[in-house]
Amino acid sequence: MGEKNLDVAARLRPALRSFEPYDPAFSPCRVNLSANENTHELPGEVREAISAALLATPLNRYPDPMANDLRDALARRHGTDRAHVVVGNGGDELLFNLLFAFGGPGRVLVTCPPDFAEYANFARMTETEVRGVPRDADDFSIDADALVAAAEGAALVILTSPNNPTGDLVDRALVRRLLDETDALVLVDEAYVEFAGEEASVAPWVEHEGRLMVLRTLSKAFALAGLRVGYLLANPSVVDALAAVRQIYSVDVLAQAVALAAVERRRALAPVVADVVAERARLAAGLAGLDGVRVWPSAANFVLVRVPHAAEVRRRLRDEHSVLVRDFSSAPGLDDCLRVTVGTREENDALLDALAAIRGERPSVSS
Ligand SMILES: *Cc1c(COP(=O)(O)O)cnc(C)c1O
Repeated sequence: MGEKNLDVAARLRPALRSFEPYDPAFSPCRVNLSANENTHELPGEVREAISAALLATPLNRYPDPMANDLRDALARRHGTDRAHVVVGNGGDELLFNLLFAFGGPGRVLVTCPPDFAEYANFARMTETEVRGVPRDADDFSIDADALVAAAEGAALVILTSPNNPTGDLVDRALVRRLLDETDALVLVDEAYVEFAGEEASVAPWVEHEGRLMVLRTLSKAFALAGLRVGYLLANPSVVDALAAVRQIYSVDVLAQAVALAAVERRRALAPVVADVVAERARLAAGLAGLDGVRVWPSAANFVLVRVPHAAEVRRRLRDEHSVLVRDFSSAPGLDDCLRVTVGTREENDALLDALAAIRGERPSVSS
């Protein structure tokens, strides 16, 4: 096959040699609460607008590389202008581009693990040094003084609010301190903030804080994870820098059209978000009612739980009950932890029943 001299590892850039293809190998399950997707059905008004947008979009022309119609709609959502908005192929592309643009050899990224694994991945790919300021082992709070000290001389600080996988919001006073007391760029990743309420967001600060950036996505509250659209609110000079290095057509015509339709009808989505928030409380109470299970408070559309023998519990949920959740039990600081996405009432009940059955208990919450 002519592969005698195909030593790919030797040919790869050294920094990229240890990466594996990302394949979570999702087992098809009746109930999938593993990826923090929005599992609710969208309101008819939104589904119809999306269908109409798809039908009305020709595919023979290249997309608008700047996605200006979508940027205008997003800017209206946040009371700003398109100069403060850059879109990406999911939030993930923007996270990569941030490290590509502002990281690199000799530059430092500061994060607060346990947090979103992609930060460290993209840092390694771009040869950016990661300085982790670990959260409190018990309540996952951030040591503000330690973070401010670590941010000294750093290129970029990422705070996740609400944090994935711990569910807690970042204290906005801490964002304030980082802006006041350091010279770093500060990214607040608000992928889940709609489930916490818009008042928890620091997006309105972007207008006046040149070093502050806010990441948003349509993958979670908007129920469009398959579409791959995220966006960053930032100073116009940061937007320009990112727009200059991005893959110019990464957000395709269908994604732009569907995202625009959804953003313009976001008010119709409010009842869906409200139901997730109500179900989050019911699910958390149901989980907390199980013997020996700890549930951390969450402002997102998932809850982190600690359950004895978590890896085994997760396997039995999948194999015996066709319910899929995410296993974090081998992640540093997350011994015996599972992350459970808040689904519909039926899905949450299926999980609670299955968990109770595995643990030989009766479900403690039924309404
Ligand atoms: C899901 C998620 C994102 C973005 O996801 P995309 O689907 O790429 O938009 C960003 N940050 C965190 C913490 C997330 O959990």
